[in-house]
Amino acid sequence: MNKTIAIDGPSASGKSSVSKGVAAALGFIYVDSGALYRGITWQALRKGVDVHDAAAVIACMENTDWDFFVQDGAATFSVDGNVPVQELRKKDVRENVSFVAVIPEVRTFVVDSLRALEHFGSLVMEGRDIGTKVFPDSPYKFYLDADPEERAMRRYRELVAAGENEKAEEVMESLKKRDKIDSTRKTDPLTVAPGAQVIDSTSMTLDDVIQTVVDAVKE
Ligand code: C5P
Repeated sequence: MNKTIAIDGPSASGKSSVSKGVAAALGFIYVDSGALYRGITWQALRKGVDVHDAAAVIACMENTDWDFFVQDGAATFSVDGNVPVQELRKKDVRENVSFVAVIPEVRTFVVDSLRALEHFGSLVMEGRDIGTKVFPDSPYKFYLDADPEERAMRRYRELVAAGENEKAEEVMESLKKRDKIDSTRKTDPLTVAPGAQVIDSTSMTLDDVIQTVVDAVKE
């Protein structure tokens, strides 16, 4: 029987590293749900669509050819035949994705696409609403959290390592803004799913967090 592990939490709470580690430990397929919101944002921006014009974003999304496949243990997608990876991490996408992710039609498209990935096999899916909305019936739900300062420092170090020239204070501000939009939006706000195990990773090592999830799934 396929299993789906839901890992939710705010930006830079360690979801990606933990989800990848858990997927590798269990041989499951890793799914980054935020990448799809980012992909829709990237497509809108490169097509010159105003991300605050919901109708235009929806039309752009519907006129795009999306194809999903598994590569190197991770679910991924193409956008009109292109597979954006680094592009999805750029500042313009990062600063606009939360606006695109509040559009109900965008969320419906993403949720349906994510659910359809189950036919590929057992999944470890990270996001904001996986336990509350996408797979609420999964017995394996986790909510990762960490202090905002710690999350901002983690994100800052990641950006510096990726060669991005940004200031720590700006990263903190942008993270706070995104947290606020994600947790106060009307559709599927970020919140702890009923029955989810909350893990505060502020002073835990990555390996400890991965092991905590793996142990809970193996129980
Ligand atoms: O996880 P990541 O930072 O890539 O997500 C980018 C944005 O996509 C989030 O800030 C949020 O607005 C949106 N998102 C979401 N629901 C998810 C995953 C991401 O609304 N399941």
